[in-house]
Amino acid sequence: MPQNPTTIVDELGIALANLADAATGAVTPTLRLGVTGLSRAGKTIFITALVHSLLTGGRMPGFSPLAEGRFIGARLAEYPDATVPRFAYEQHLAALTSANPVWPEGTRRISQLRLVLKFQSKRWFGSMRGPSIINLDIVDYPGEWLLDLPLLGLSYAQWSAEALDRADRLGSGKEAGPFIDLLKEIDPLGEAREPDAERLAAAFTEYLRRSREHGALSSLPPGRFLLPGDMEGSPALTFAPLPPQRQAVRSGSLYALLEGRFEAYKDQIVRPFFREHFARLDRQIVLVDTLRALNAGPAAVADLEAALTGVLACFRQGETNPLLRPFVRRIDRILFAATKADHVHHTSHDRLEAILNRLVASASKRARFAGAETKSVAMAAIRATREGTIVEAGETLPTLIGTPVKGETLAGTSYDGRTEIALFPGDLPEQPDRLFQEGQSAALNFLRFTPPQRLERNAEGDVIFPYIRLDRALDYLIGDWLA
Ligand code: GDP
Repeated sequence: MPQNPTTIVDELGIALANLADAATGAVTPTLRLGVTGLSRAGKTIFITALVHSLLTGGRMPGFSPLAEGRFIGARLAEYPDATVPRFAYEQHLAALTSANPVWPEGTRRISQLRLVLKFQSKRWFGSMRGPSIINLDIVDYPGEWLLDLPLLGLSYAQWSAEALDRADRLGSGKEAGPFIDLLKEIDPLGEAREPDAERLAAAFTEYLRRSREHGALSSLPPGRFLLPGDMEGSPALTFAPLPPQRQAVRSGSLYALLEGRFEAYKDQIVRPFFREHFARLDRQIVLVDTLRALNAGPAAVADLEAALTGVLACFRQGETNPLLRPFVRRIDRILFAATKADHVHHTSHDRLEAILNRLVASASKRARFAGAETKSVAMAAIRATREGTIVEAGETLPTLIGTPVKGETLAGTSYDGRTEIALFPGDLPEQPDRLFQEGQSAALNFLRFTPPQRLERNAEGDVIFPYIRLDRALDYLIGDWLA
C-alpha cells in the first residue's frame, strides 16, 4: 500500500529535527550539577529556589553573570533521558506560592531537570560570536544512597557481619530488639520461604527507621531501605543480614535466597545508580542540616559527622579502592552548604560556616578530594524569617520574626501556624570545637517556620523569594561556566 506522502514528510521532518537536536546537543556544553544531602536537609527547597531565580532573572548580586549584566535568560527544556523522573518544579513552586504557602514534600528518589542558560561570554572570542548557551542538568538524589557505595566491595557474609555487629552494639532491648529476636526464631539454612524473607526485611527496615528517628544516621545502609524510590516492595529490597554460617550453604535455603538478593541489590540498584548518574556529575552541592544537629547535642553532631564521612567517602573512593574507581568521576568542585541559616541571626552566619567546615574536616582531612576544590557556605534557599531586635532588661537582643509551623512548641507554648512571633534564637559559639565536646550544645531556640507568607513581585509579576547567600552558592557552582 502506498504511504501517505504527508506521513513521509512528517517522519522526515521528525528525523531531521532529531538529527538537529542531536547535533546541537553535541556542541552545547552540558554542566551536570548533583544536589544531595540526607533526608530533610533542604534539597527540594534549594532546587526550587535556584531554578526559580534563574528563570526569572532574580535579584542575585552575588551571581557574577547576573551582576555583570551578562546573563540573558533561562528556560526549562526537555530532559534527554525520558526514563528518569522529572523534578516536580511547578508543583513545588505552586505549594510555596499558594494563598497559604506550605513547604512541599521533600526528595524521595532521583529526579532531574534541564535548564538552558543563555549568556554573553566575557571572553573576547565568545562575545564576538554573540550569546552563548549551556545546558544545566540538575540531578536531585537522596544522600542516603551514597552510603551504599562501600557495599559494592562487600560480600553478603561480610556485610551481614558488619550490620549484625552494629545492631548488637545497640543492645537488643533498643531499636534492634525485635529484629534480633526474629533472627533467633529463623533457621537460615532451612528452606527458603518468601514470608520469612519479608518478615526479616520488614523488621530490619523498622530497626533502621527507628534508629534514624533517634538520630543515628550513620547506621543507615542499605540506603534504599528507608528511601526506596520506585523500588518499594521489590524482591531486590526484600533481604536482611543473617548470621555467618560454618556449614556449606545449600541452594534453596533462606540464606542462599537472601544472599542472591543482596547481590541483586548491588547489581541492579546500586551499580546502575553510580554508573548512570553519580559518575556523570561535574559539580556537587552537599546540603547539611547543621543547625538541627547542633540543637540536638553532641551525640547528634557526632552522628552527623559520621554519616557525612560516609557520604563524602564517595567523592574520593576512586583513590583508595580501584574496584570502585569506574563509578566515581572527577567532580572538580564540591560545595558544602549548611541550610536553613534563617534560623539564626546574620551575626551567626559566619560561625555556622566555620562549624560546617569543622564537620566535614575529618572526611576531607584523610584524603583530599582527588583534585576537587571544596568550600562551605551557610545558606537559606528560602528565607522564612526577618530580623528585628527586642530590649530585655536594658539589653538589646537580636531577634528573628516569623510564623512557627502549626504544632511547634517552645517553652510550653504551642503555636497555631498563623501567629507571627519574635524570637531570640541564641548565638552560635565562636569556637566550633566546643560543640563537638560531651555535655555541650548550641542551646538554640529552634522552631520550624512556615514559608514566607507575603512575597514581593518583580515588574513581570513573578514572585521573589528572599534568601541568604543562595547567590554566592550559585556563583561557586556554575559561575565560571558562564564566564
Ligand atoms: P529534602 O528532603 O532534602 O528534599 O528537604 P526539603 O527541601 O523538603 O526540606 C525539608 C524541610 O526543611 C522543609 O519542609 C522546610 O521545613 C525546611 N527548609 C528547607 N529549606 C529551608 C530554608 O531555606 N529555610 C527554612 N526556614 N526552612 C527550610
